[in-house]
Amino acid sequence: MNIGLFGGTFDPIHRGHTALTRAAQEQFQLGRIYFVPANIPPHKQKRPLASFPSRYAMVALATAENQAFVPSLLEAPADGQKSTQANYSVDTVKRFKQTLKKSDRLFFLIGIDAFREIATWRDPEALFRECEFIVASRPGYSLADVANALPESLRPAPSVTKPFQKQPAKGDLVLTGATVHLLESVHYDISATKVREAVAAGKPLGKFLDPAVREYIKKTGLYRTGP
Ligand code: ATP
Repeated sequence: MNIGLFGGTFDPIHRGHTALTRAAQEQFQLGRIYFVPANIPPHKQKRPLASFPSRYAMVALATAENQAFVPSLLEAPADGQKSTQANYSVDTVKRFKQTLKKSDRLFFLIGIDAFREIATWRDPEALFRECEFIVASRPGYSLADVANALPESLRPAPSVTKPFQKQPAKGDLVLTGATVHLLESVHYDISATKVREAVAAGKPLGKFLDPAVREYIKKTGLYRTGP
């Protein structure tokens, strides 16, 4: 079976996330997609996050209606909220692969904004060895941008990528040590930051969120500032 792993902060999960996963599900015939909220994301430690249970609850609500979408506790804190250990994707993927069959094919789903930072992640070469990538592209990014985001040891020489600077990021990039598939323009102009700001400003959230997630935020008072 083709299996997708989609990690994020999901603070909160929004329609951009589900649009990406639905597109990947269709294009790559993914039988299951695991949504993995990070307890402590290595790159987002500057602001306080909503608690892991709240973010997981919203992921569970937003994925309830798609048979193939599975909310995952792979990065749940092992010792309640006391854990301070960041979650690294390479460790998560290795652990997850132990639960898969030999015949399963694992795809790591990611948006292009996050992918551009991939070279700064822990042991990115190992992560590329463990699974194939599906990167959700968006207008304005070229195939060369995708290739240039790879860790240095996997990155093609500038003379190779230069001709691709004007080519939109689509198709597949198959290199020694890395396979990257591009999903075209599934990027919605939404981010969790915008959702949190809209809640704080008392603005409507209608089109950004699954209705059940919207209700959860309303009921629990998440992201509201002031009294
Ligand atoms: P924040 O605004 O708090 O930084 P975010 O909206 O980027 O959050 P994350 O949970 O950090 O959400 O993202 C998880 C994954 O989803 C990342 O790979 C990111 O690139 C991707 N992603 C986020 N928003 C979109 C979007 N609108 N369309 C497609 N992919 C997205």
